[in-house]
Amino acid sequence: NYRISQRAASLTPSLTLEIDAKAKRMKAEGQDLVGFGAGEPDFDTPQHIKDAAAAALAAGFTKYTPAAGIPELRKAIAEKHRRENGLEYEPEQIIVSCGGKHACYNVILATCQEGDEVLIPSPYWVSYPEMVKLAGATPVFLPTTDRTEFKVTPEQLRAAITPRTRLFILNSPSNPTGTVYTPEEVRALGDVCVEKGVLIMSDEIYEHLLYDGAVHRSVASFSRAHYEHTIIVHGFAKAWSMTGWRLGWTAAPEPIARAIDAIQSHSTSNPTSFAQKGGVAALTGPMEHLKTWLAEFDRRRRYAWERLNRIPGLSCVNARGAFYLFPNISGTGLKSVEFCKRLLETEKVAAVPGVAFGADDYIRISYATSMANLEKGLDRIERFCRSLV
Ligand code: PLP
Repeated sequence: NYRISQRAASLTPSLTLEIDAKAKRMKAEGQDLVGFGAGEPDFDTPQHIKDAAAAALAAGFTKYTPAAGIPELRKAIAEKHRRENGLEYEPEQIIVSCGGKHACYNVILATCQEGDEVLIPSPYWVSYPEMVKLAGATPVFLPTTDRTEFKVTPEQLRAAITPRTRLFILNSPSNPTGTVYTPEEVRALGDVCVEKGVLIMSDEIYEHLLYDGAVHRSVASFSRAHYEHTIIVHGFAKAWSMTGWRLGWTAAPEPIARAIDAIQSHSTSNPTSFAQKGGVAALTGPMEHLKTWLAEFDRRRRYAWERLNRIPGLSCVNARGAFYLFPNISGTGLKSVEFCKRLLETEKVAAVPGVAFGADDYIRISYATSMANLEKGLDRIERFCRSLV
């Protein structure tokens, strides 16, 4: 009897991972594929980080660690928040997890239950609603469009809050839109949550990937009350290109950190021991790599944005963060899945349908790929769109 639990059956499998897998398969078969689906930087993990993990492995640092992470890493993370965000966390408030995704799931499990509502701006990162469902709570979406750069307003947030609202999920810079809220906008959203007693899960994993002078300011940093209402989610995947290491963290008020520690101690236990040593090297070592990466991401972003806006049927607001563009495809007459399927079949270009992020009139283009690939892929998208309109 292979009865699947209601919780598991309620899930929509991750469309982004599915398209990525299909693209990788086509590539492995030797097909001339251009992949715009990637959710990871195309750069290698910096050498000093790899060296630190390799040295730890060689020295036999291969056993269980405390479930919440090694003290050295929790301290390095607390110091990062002090140095870069002006936030004071004790190491006990930091829990190291197996990736930012795991950190998000822990936060939602630790704070939400049956009957709770979780407010999620849409377009949203694909996993948030499913995690909320896994926790038995209900996702409630705050729709936005490209006309307002995909930004939720404080009024919209306020109007959506009910006595059941438990958590508001803020993701700036955003996946999939690249939107970055200004400090004033972040503060205003935080104000509403503080006033209404709603917790904020602030997913800041793209904090370092900013363009056009955009500034990241953590919602926790505006006042003691903001700090007490905020749980920060972060990770090593994006700014250090460590997606495969599975290393992320949460910074939270202590009672929530303790709850996350308990959940983690009974589920995954500690993140990989020697990966954590790499994490220490990432946070305490040089950040020179980031300058080069940002310059390259920025060059690609400008190029792709210009090209997308010249393609008939497409229009694209510019992104100020992360490494995605989120063009509107409604001018082609196709919805996102049909668009992406036909694009993959006829032109061998992999992009992610916006419906995966709750926005069926858009597709997501990742520019975490070479300039040569971008040129080739955009040529093909252009040819594809010209065939439609
Ligand atoms: N949060 C957002 C918004 C993301 O885009 C991602 C990765 O794509 C994550 C969290 C989780 O990243 P990881 O679990 O690889 O650290």
